[in-house]
Amino acid sequence: MPSPIAHSVSGYILGKILPLEQRKVSIHKTFYWQIYAVFVAIFADFDFIPQLITGEKYHRGLTHSLSFTLGFSAILALIVSYLWKSSYKQIFLRTFLFYISHLCLDFFSEGRGIKLFLPFIDSFFRSPVIIFPGFHYSMGLWSYSHILTLTFELVYSTLLFFVVCYWQKTMSKKTKKI
Ligand SMILES: [Zn+2]
Repeated sequence: MPSPIAHSVSGYILGKILPLEQRKVSIHKTFYWQIYAVFVAIFADFDFIPQLITGEKYHRGLTHSLSFTLGFSAILALIVSYLWKSSYKQIFLRTFLFYISHLCLDFFSEGRGIKLFLPFIDSFFRSPVIIFPGFHYSMGLWSYSHILTLTFELVYSTLLFFVVCYWQKTMSKKTKKI
């Protein structure tokens, strides 16, 4: 599975591509929106916390399933749309996409996969085509084995930033012409 770097950058970029659409969006709200996108994109890996406390294997379980993604997005969107007086549908769809970006990255990475269909099917699923080298936490935080993964993720993150910068420039040019 990728490290939090790839998940955070993916959430950040998605937050940029899918901004909060309101009549008036303050700089503060834009900032909080980016933090929200990153938080949602990494949330699935917070299953490390109950695993550390109890010693049971929760990682890549329920929080990495489609049913949890739907429930989490529905409840969080309800709270956020109420607090920010925004459209529920808009917040729900964006939250769902931020969250699902995490499952996609894990699905296409090295490792045993994710329990995508819990609670209906208690099995790990992984793409036969691997894009991301795995980050092996079992080797400890400072293992040399992480260098390849981190290098790959830094290249991935840089590429994403360039693509979004180019897309934003193109969009602003088009808007100016109109
Ligand atoms: Zn994960």
